[in-house]
Amino acid sequence: MKRILVTGGAGFIGSHLCERLLKDGNDVICLDNYFTGSKDNIRHLIGNDHFELVRHDVTLPYTAEVDEIYNLACPASPVHYQHDPVKTIQTCVIGSMNMLGLAKRTGAKILQASTSEVYGDPNIHPQVESYWGNVNPIGIRSCYDEGKRCAETLFMDYHRQNATRIKIIRIFNTYGPRMSMNDGRVVSNFIVQALQGKDITIYGDGKQTRSFQYVDDLVEGMVRMMETDDSFTGPVNIGNPGEFTMLELAEKVIELTGSGSRIVFEPLPQDDPRQRKPDITLAHEKLGGWRPEIKLNEGLGKTIEYFRRLIDRNY
Ligand code: NAD
Ligand code: UDP
Repeated sequence: MKRILVTGGAGFIGSHLCERLLKDGNDVICLDNYFTGSKDNIRHLIGNDHFELVRHDVTLPYTAEVDEIYNLACPASPVHYQHDPVKTIQTCVIGSMNMLGLAKRTGAKILQASTSEVYGDPNIHPQVESYWGNVNPIGIRSCYDEGKRCAETLFMDYHRQNATRIKIIRIFNTYGPRMSMNDGRVVSNFIVQALQGKDITIYGDGKQTRSFQYVDDLVEGMVRMMETDDSFTGPVNIGNPGEFTMLELAEKVIELTGSGSRIVFEPLPQDDPRQRKPDITLAHEKLGGWRPEIKLNEGLGKTIEYFRRLIDRNY
């Protein structure tokens, strides 16, 4: 049995990861400051003898004897990470240093939840890991993009300088149950708007693209990445190469919910990337043939059911 620390474990992705790691027979420590996560996400795990919940901020040192660390603590939606941009950078940089220090001391393997945002508004398409990105260092998304880029640097330097056992994954847009209802991300926004009969807000002309991955596919990729040989550090893209415009996504959500909502157009936020699609050749090769299994319609169906139940319960 391994003891595994999941920072940001009470968040959307972290809660699914904790669930999976427990199912696999591990001891899990879930560490979170509840900035964007919630006890509701992991309530069903409380009481399990193999699950421990710790309220803690990763910008402060933390110590425990662990075998593996998944470092997910960081607000992920633009609305949340722009709410307190200085804190976002601290979480990315100081949080990573604290967790890397812990990995160095304990000899634990540590996986960093990096992001496709390190590619910025990409000039090559689809994005391969060898692409260095096109990131504005002084824009409103920079606290997150540059924070995550600096975290990758720290991971590589701890590896080179101290032989820390690191793994870096670059996660592309991920969705599913337990996304927070008000975090402004496009999938949760469109579904909630459609279910409530409100206008569906497309930013810009809706021709920008994203590639959406269902959370179960990501969790499978994360666990497989952690299991790879120490010589493979990544970075490796984990995402679903199915690419959709925001207009296509809005139409799909309207169709699947049977909603009468109208589509309206609002201004495009600053530095909003025009396109995003992962090249997953490396993940397929290194992670035992990993590839996403869940198609957008199926994943949206499950996510719509989740939000439908949540909305029914609240009203
Ligand atoms: P989320 O906001 O649901 O989860 C983040 C969790 O981290 C929350 O529970 C939050 O309370 C916690 N947290 C934030 N700051 C913290 C701090 N200083 N100390 C301790 N805990 C803190 O977001 P998510 O979508 O689950 O994202 C999880 C990770 O995956 C993040 O690192 C994010 O950057 C990365 N990621 C997510 C996506 C995506 O599409 N969801 C894409 C790329 C990368
Ligand atoms: N978006 C939109 N309407 C919304 C929320 C987002 O059209 O209500 C757009 C947003 O401008 C971006 C895309 O959807 O082009 C994905 O946005 P999200 O915040 O989910 O993720 P990110 O931009 O970080 O990939």
